[in-house]
Amino acid sequence: MKLYNSLTKKIEEIELLKPGVVTMYSCGPTVYWRMHVGNLRAYAEWDILHRAFLYLGYDVRRVMNFTDVGHMTDDDDFGEDKIEQAASEKGKNPTEIANYYIKTVIEDFYKMNYLSPNGEVVKPNTDIHELGKYGWARATEYIDQIIDFVKKIEENGFTYETAQALYFDISKYNDYDRMFKQNLDEKKVGAREEVEVDPQKKNPADFVLWMKKVGKYEKHIMAWDSPWGVGFPGWHIECSAMSCDILGEKFDIHTGGIDHIPIHHTNERAQNFGAYKHEVVKYWVHNEFIRTPKDEKLSKSKGNALTLDEIIQGGIDSMDLRYHYISVNYRVPLQFNWEALKGSRRARLSLLKKISDLNSDGNGGSLLNNYVERFEDLLKDNLNMSGVFALISELLKSDEKPENIVQTILDFDRVLGLKIYENLKTKEELPKEVEELLKKREVARKEEDFEKSDSLRDEIEKYGFKVLDTSEGQKVERI
Ligand code: AMP
Ligand code: ZN
Repeated sequence: MKLYNSLTKKIEEIELLKPGVVTMYSCGPTVYWRMHVGNLRAYAEWDILHRAFLYLGYDVRRVMNFTDVGHMTDDDDFGEDKIEQAASEKGKNPTEIANYYIKTVIEDFYKMNYLSPNGEVVKPNTDIHELGKYGWARATEYIDQIIDFVKKIEENGFTYETAQALYFDISKYNDYDRMFKQNLDEKKVGAREEVEVDPQKKNPADFVLWMKKVGKYEKHIMAWDSPWGVGFPGWHIECSAMSCDILGEKFDIHTGGIDHIPIHHTNERAQNFGAYKHEVVKYWVHNEFIRTPKDEKLSKSKGNALTLDEIIQGGIDSMDLRYHYISVNYRVPLQFNWEALKGSRRARLSLLKKISDLNSDGNGGSLLNNYVERFEDLLKDNLNMSGVFALISELLKSDEKPENIVQTILDFDRVLGLKIYENLKTKEELPKEVEELLKKREVARKEEDFEKSDSLRDEIEKYGFKVLDTSEGQKVERI
């Protein structure tokens, strides 16, 4: 497998620490709001990478976190804690807020057919206390490990303490800005403004490992005892501590969006070095953003940071959105606009139609090894997804036997995750009686006889199918 490593700024052949086993950490969501189409893109890209490794026969040990404390509204560390802010706005406590949004993440992952870190698609009604079993790590459940990690950094002499916080001292790590070259002197000039916040902080780029429950944070609800006083961890330390605790002091791949390169991952890397005096992560891999057509960041206030449910309400299926993300490479910037999403919807439906037109569900077919080999090569080539879709088009046009074509595409769908089989199956398995009832219901709906249409819906339900009225007419799903 070749991937683009943001640390070396090169596409590199991945050499695993342990042959056959991939250790991977993906920065997970901060659970204070519903994920938007940007966050959803990040998880689509790493879902493809995870599935590609599984397809290629690797054992994948992956971890993803839920950030439920310490992520500030401001990158300079002294904003509001996002979870506590949401809690006070909604009159809830922080745990309720985090629990609520963790559930929504699991729901969205389910709808998008994203694997949980352990490689399963987790059902939305799963007890959130069970999520650890599926590879999810919740920051507030790792406070002891976080404190131990900070202690290591402190013992190695990379920290200093002020009345307000314990900081990582970036001047102690001369490789600090390798992943993101920045003019740290320039940052120093801005320091004067910051003196108001913590006059004892030495360099603006120093960052909080442990924030004390004093001053501005006197009323912070989430707080734990520590060698530096009662307080709470910084955001960056959570990822370092959880990843190393679960995956070890060296692991292969760390993923996240490109926004994490300058600060979050630069700081994680520094902390890792502070604790172990060696590089922990071998490959830092980042996905490009979805932005507005004017190349601006998506934002709630501009109404374009839409959630999955809002996208579905707009007539786009979750699988259309999945198709939209995965049909390009993770390093290709995408624009958010409805026309593009509709285009992806058309492309996905056309793909399904072409497969359905072969009149086979793949049964009795065999894998076309020459296509499988090319598929694997495209995946290994830094996830060349546009190449993958071109290969599928070529396969569909080929004169191979229909059952072999379908069998091969269904095999590819282990990576694509587009639920192709489910879509074909529903179509073929519809009983004659249900087809008849659907036709009658369509007429009733045209005649606006809603009573009849509702009773026909009930009839259909007796056969175990639910009817959905979509912009393209009736759709049935197994109950
Ligand atoms: P957060 O909850 O803010 O930590 O974000 C969760 C993930 O979504 C991170 O890996 C971010 O890098 C990623 N992300 C945030 N906004 C976008 C966007 N507009 N496009 C792609 N990825 C994004
Ligand atoms: Zn992280």
